[in-house]
Amino acid sequence: MTALHFEPGELPPEAEELRCEVRDFLAETMADIPPALKARNWTAWHPEFSHKLGERGWIGMTWPKKYGGSERSFLERYVLLEELLAAGAPVGFHWIADRQSGPLILRFGTEEQRETILPGITRGETAFGIGMSEPNSGSDLASVRTKAEKIDGGYRVNGSKIWTSGAHMANYLVALFRTSGTAEDRHDGLTQFIVDLKNTDGIDIRPIHNMTGDHDFNQVFFEDAFVPETMRVGNEGDGWMQVTTELAFERSGPERYLSSFPLVKNSIGHAGQDPSERQAIGLGRMLARAATYREMSLSVSGMLEAGKNPDLEAAVMKELGVGFEQNIPGIAHDLFGMSPRLEDGSDFETTLAYITQANVSFSLRGGTREIVRGIIARGLGMR
Ligand SMILES: Cc1cc2nc3c(=O)[nH]c(=O)nc-3n(C[C@H](O)[C@H](O)[C@H](O)COP(=O)(O)OP(=O)(O)OC[C@H]3O[C@@H](n4cnc5c(N)ncnc54)[C@H](O)[C@@H]3O)c2cc1C
Repeated sequence: MTALHFEPGELPPEAEELRCEVRDFLAETMADIPPALKARNWTAWHPEFSHKLGERGWIGMTWPKKYGGSERSFLERYVLLEELLAAGAPVGFHWIADRQSGPLILRFGTEEQRETILPGITRGETAFGIGMSEPNSGSDLASVRTKAEKIDGGYRVNGSKIWTSGAHMANYLVALFRTSGTAEDRHDGLTQFIVDLKNTDGIDIRPIHNMTGDHDFNQVFFEDAFVPETMRVGNEGDGWMQVTTELAFERSGPERYLSSFPLVKNSIGHAGQDPSERQAIGLGRMLARAATYREMSLSVSGMLEAGKNPDLEAAVMKELGVGFEQNIPGIAHDLFGMSPRLEDGSDFETTLAYITQANVSFSLRGGTREIVRGIIARGLGMR
């Protein structure tokens, strides 16, 4: 049986220096951010905020300078993300591009795609969405049916994607289409494309409102939409291999245990200097868990920095981390008896209200609990 291996992660001095810089930046820029936006954390879109981060060189910060990056380390990026998430910074506009679409283009894209698209991401001007899921094709991603048929100069696309976060606001979608065969061919015949959502005829983006009333995700319909050959990412048929790499970027970050962290901070603030014994014990347990997941998450980042492949450890981290994020509203309610209030509440009540409603989705996005547990079982040699 394969053993899990979490190497202790250590932050270099330059990463700790960066932490001070980020904290100063956040003290200045977060003052006007309302609690409802902080509660939404990395899913809140705020283009001006992303633009400010871009000016500091904090988007695509590990990427080569020639594409607008800052050539800094993954551990420095880790510290930046940790501070942004803990503060509830509204980083949704650039989050997907910084986390996965940009790295995917760097690795599998053409030089032209890198030169034309990556600098806009690092400036906080270009946003991406993820076009993987389809009706009847979520966990079973290999059954994708949306077809990209080869025609002169490009591909004609027909079909639809669903649960596409931010597609109504994003510039581009990295989409997985079938370029040959049928859904029964599974992993074969899948190819990734960059779809220009703002300038392509034949694309209809329809809203889906979630339980909180927000319009975050969409269903995206393609009817004879033309995607130029120059926007294909990698070779025809390599889509499955590429998409699994992309999912590893998607699953391994600290956002998999910090989405509810603004509520942890609110709880501590509310308890004040003189908490009851029960509150002190409850908060202590909460922080002990946060500290443990932080060590695990940092370890995954350290292994990525060292060029290792911590897929199994990242899956374990995601599974435990989302369980923690989902427990926090219940613990906060239990310790303080606070009623969630979406409107006109205190910071605490507003944050509690949003996260209580939204947190059911935390274990679905990026792969459901059952699927992630299956990956862990396979990684451990148990299936
Ligand atoms: C907030 C949010 C944002 C999202 N954003 C995006 C996005 O931007 N782009 C995108 O492409 N997708 C996005 N998704 C979709 C997400 O990836 C899918 O919801 C997820 O992969 C599950 O697919 P499904 O909804 O079709 O559920 P299904 O696959 O139908 O699963 C239903 C249930 O059956 C279980 N199940 C399925 N197969 C198995 C199995 N083999 N063994 C055991 N149990 C199984 C699942 O765990 C789940 O509990 C988002 C989802 C959420 C909640």
